[in-house]
Amino acid sequence: MLFACVNIALAQNPPKPPKNLRLYVFDCGSIKGLSPTLFNFKEGEVKATQFVVPCYLIVHPKGTLMWDTGTVPDSAFKPDGSPVTQGTGAIITATKPLKTQMAAIGYKPSDITFLAMSHYHSDHTANANDFAGSTWLVQKAERDFMFGPPQQGAIINTSTFDKLKDAKTKILDGSDYDVFGDGKVIIKSAPGHTPGHQVLFLKLAKTGPLLIAGDLYHYPEERATGKTPTFEYNAEQSRASRAAIEAFVKQTKAQMWIEHDAATFAPLKKSPSFYE
Ligand SMILES: [Zn+2]
Repeated sequence: MLFACVNIALAQNPPKPPKNLRLYVFDCGSIKGLSPTLFNFKEGEVKATQFVVPCYLIVHPKGTLMWDTGTVPDSAFKPDGSPVTQGTGAIITATKPLKTQMAAIGYKPSDITFLAMSHYHSDHTANANDFAGSTWLVQKAERDFMFGPPQQGAIINTSTFDKLKDAKTKILDGSDYDVFGDGKVIIKSAPGHTPGHQVLFLKLAKTGPLLIAGDLYHYPEERATGKTPTFEYNAEQSRASRAAIEAFVKQTKAQMWIEHDAATFAPLKKSPSFYE
């Protein structure tokens, strides 16, 4: 009996904080059937039109940060993995519930110190409500939009994040936000795709500097051509954000991961492996 109790206690405690910053990459699904014309490209102008949807867990000696929360809520999973389609004509699939992937490395949502999302679009917010007990890190302009008058049809799904309204919240003002105070995990404002879109910069001891770009770009071809999506909140602002982030990654020699890019995602180490 004693052993059983000890085991339960172990199962319920999150792992000990690591010495070095860690990054876990989760597979949170894929989106097929999107036309490149939505992104101002002609059919055939982009190599891969299928999007991947990653979620990321950052584990710092002083706490944890969940970055983006997927495209299918764990509660909407179909046991056979069949697609969950939404109003955009997209075919949305996910085969691994986020909480199952977190549990495999010893974490549950209540263990997570901070939640941040690149932006409010529904392919990033699916499991956001699970993290309403964390401290939410959000730009003021994004939060105002999320809880303002309903807009933007299928790409907003307020029911996935409505509990964040009452979550402990740190409202960001557009300047860099150093999450743990040591310069290793920094949220950078990059508005345009949405009013308060943001990206994440990590200084990993072995991997080096890394910028997780949210939807600053969707396809690598956008980086080369300067094209912006048709549904951009403010394309002018997007161009300015891209220029600032490109200068930043050049200056810091950071690699950039475009979240939805399948070619970036495919070779990445997936959780339970991690970057440090
Ligand atoms: Zn997206």
